[in-house]
Amino acid sequence: MKLVVISNRGARFDPNKPQSGGLAAGLEPVLECSGAVWMFSSDILGDGTEKPLLLEKAGKGHVAKLDLPVAHYPGYYRDYSNSTLWPALHSLSDRMSRTQAGYRSYREMNDFVARAAFGLQDRDAFWVHDYHLFPLASDLRKLGIEGPAGFFLHTPWPAPDMIKLVSNHRELMKSMLEYDLLGFQTSRDVNNFLACLRSHLGLESKDVVVISERGQTRCQKFPIGIDPKQFAEYLVADLSPAEQEKVSSSLKIVEGTTLAIGVDRLDYTKGIDKKVEGFNQLLKAEPRSISLLQIAPPSRADVEEYQKYKNEVEGRINEVNAEHGTDDWSPIQYKNESFSQSALARLYRAARVGVVTPLRDGMNLVAKEYVAAQNPKDPGVLVLSKFAGAAEDFNDKEARLVDPNRPEEIREAIWQAVNMPGEERIGRWRSMMDKLEAYTIHHWSADYLRELDKSQVTAAAVT
Ligand code: UDP
Repeated sequence: MKLVVISNRGARFDPNKPQSGGLAAGLEPVLECSGAVWMFSSDILGDGTEKPLLLEKAGKGHVAKLDLPVAHYPGYYRDYSNSTLWPALHSLSDRMSRTQAGYRSYREMNDFVARAAFGLQDRDAFWVHDYHLFPLASDLRKLGIEGPAGFFLHTPWPAPDMIKLVSNHRELMKSMLEYDLLGFQTSRDVNNFLACLRSHLGLESKDVVVISERGQTRCQKFPIGIDPKQFAEYLVADLSPAEQEKVSSSLKIVEGTTLAIGVDRLDYTKGIDKKVEGFNQLLKAEPRSISLLQIAPPSRADVEEYQKYKNEVEGRINEVNAEHGTDDWSPIQYKNESFSQSALARLYRAARVGVVTPLRDGMNLVAKEYVAAQNPKDPGVLVLSKFAGAAEDFNDKEARLVDPNRPEEIREAIWQAVNMPGEERIGRWRSMMDKLEAYTIHHWSADYLRELDKSQVTAAAVT
């Protein structure tokens, strides 16, 4: 099966070069092992004329980079994808743009991407990723493509009351039924999606299969994993001098405090503000007890809500540092830049606590990477939001689950983690690590592609 993978953004294919974003981190190994073509935006905007795509070798597969049309880019990316869909998918209606602009550009862009994919020579099956490209299958079908088409949503899918706030939500959901397989991160997302189909399109499902006019669509959970072995290799991989310097300067923490780490794109869904509040409370109760290294690479800086959030977070960190810091020590080391995964692996390992507090998150790969990077004999503790997809994989006997809206819970969990006896830390870590090893990113992609392959057979049986 000649597979075409399509996403908005791609990867840089070098663990030593900084990159951020779970999608890139998740798909890179898929391509390297499978011989697929991965098509994504070149980050160069074009005039919208269609050009033959150049295939570049990447591992065993190829990448094809597409110049997206400048005329539709802001409407597609900034407005509809990131100012309407993204907050709605994370159930944060207060962050949704009131104008909900960009739907026409969003559709035009999907149509453009479909035509580019149609122009590829070898294309038996399509695997489309994430909310920028919900309607892509309907555009592929209009071009006459009948082969298997699957979609995987890396974000959460919300409840019916939330999705109905999105303009054109019915049309969008209908277009999604042009896929044979819809993959979600958790059972909650699958159940929410099926409830939305019932409420807004009057469609029932049977055993997670929905029958529409086109045929059948299977809605299933595939919780994305990581490659723990690769993470172990990152721990010992050489760092470039620049990355080495970033790691050393990040670890210049005053003796006598314990290190906690947070790694989140600077995105309001990540609850960085809540984490800082939890820290503030802890530092009040236990002065000079703990330092937080917060890595927060810039994200979507052209979206207004992100600019507001950056100011809020940075302002609050400065206040906390001013209140609790001393001449030679700032409790929160804030890095508004991207680190390579090899650098991250070392920093995760150096930290006694990994603090992951999103208000909502599809999965949260950082939580899994933190676990994978620990020293088996002296592992750290994962403090994890119960609203991250990862909390469906790790229970409260493994991670220390918290409600991110309650800073006092974050405070208490971090303090418990700092003081947790070695035996308990090892027990919790071992159990999480077993799960990471039992279901890696390779299981995830293999499972998904097996199911996609089967969907063609079942769809044919139905028609
Ligand atoms: N990441 C990175 N460098 C950074 C920050 C993050 O390579 O400076 C990677 C991180 O290792 C993880 C991914 O970006 O693989 C973030 O994925 P996650 O699911 O946690 O969040 P997302 O950004 O996709 O919402």
